[in-house]
Amino acid sequence: MKEKIGFIGLGIMGRAMALNIARAGYPLQVYNRTPKDTSALEALGAKTAPSPRALAQDSDIVMAMLTGPEAIDHLLWGDEGAAGAFGPDKVFINMSTVSPKYSKELGQKLAATGVTFIDAPVSGSKKPAEDATLLILAGGQREKVEALDPLFKTVGNQVVYCGEAGQGSMMKMANNLLLTLMIEGLSETLNFGKVGGLSREALLEVILNGPLGCPIFQMKCKALSSDCYDPNFPLKHATKDLKFLVDTAYEIGAPIPVGQTLFQLYSTGVFKKWGDLDVCAIMKVLEQMCAG
Ligand code: NAP
Repeated sequence: MKEKIGFIGLGIMGRAMALNIARAGYPLQVYNRTPKDTSALEALGAKTAPSPRALAQDSDIVMAMLTGPEAIDHLLWGDEGAAGAFGPDKVFINMSTVSPKYSKELGQKLAATGVTFIDAPVSGSKKPAEDATLLILAGGQREKVEALDPLFKTVGNQVVYCGEAGQGSMMKMANNLLLTLMIEGLSETLNFGKVGGLSREALLEVILNGPLGCPIFQMKCKALSSDCYDPNFPLKHATKDLKFLVDTAYEIGAPIPVGQTLFQLYSTGVFKKWGDLDVCAIMKVLEQMCAG
């Protein structure tokens, strides 16, 4: 008998993940702060819960895929929050990207309810969420993480055990340092070449077909060659993650000089009101810095 799942957060990632959980045959309830069209989920047998509390009451496992700490706190401890229905017989999995510090504090706060807390952010964007090929970065008690493997495999194709709760988020920070660095690096290179008189197409041909070509560059080249920044991974989320990264680096004493600069650059994109565009809109920040 499959566990009853409650899924909170039907944004770019959450909606695709919830659909895959329903397709795998798990009894599913969903909740989103702003009511959404859930007809595709309902067609697969899922129900919409009237509140996070009602969802948690009727679920064995509650999963959250939300923007970050503010949203999680609101839906756990706000009016009709899910935490009010947590107990030792339930599991709460946070899959949203948060800082390791927040994740550890969340685990400590939830301990009073007796719920099992798992910290499981993901690597992969909209398409891997749709294709159920996310990489799950899991923190928490190892045997509890292992027991969740069949559920994780409905949304992803690999689970990496990272250590105690909070270490999944630490792994996510490390991953996103490299991700934001590579996307800025590609954008900076394309802008540099373009200002120097090369076409973006020729530049991309050289980068993608040489030793520097890699899946993330392949994925982002269409957006960067067409200036079409429909969001897969919104710039505002990359900036939020860089803020967590900068804070985490200070707390643990790790130097991230380029990470600090990346935070400034990506923040500029948010200040310019490009936060809802894809992370590739970092290109617009660089273009604005050009002379003339
Ligand atoms: P999204 O499309 O912006 O969705 C955000 C979700 O959080 C929505 O359900 C939204 O509800 C909810 N939310 C935001 N603020 C809230 C609040 N104050 N109270 C209650 N609910 C709130 O984000 P996403 O792209 O799916 O990303 C979700 C998480 O996954 C983020 O932590 C992100 O960093 C991470 N992530 C994203 C990607 C990606 O490529 N997109 C990849 C890996 C990890 P409303 O609909 O009511 O606004």
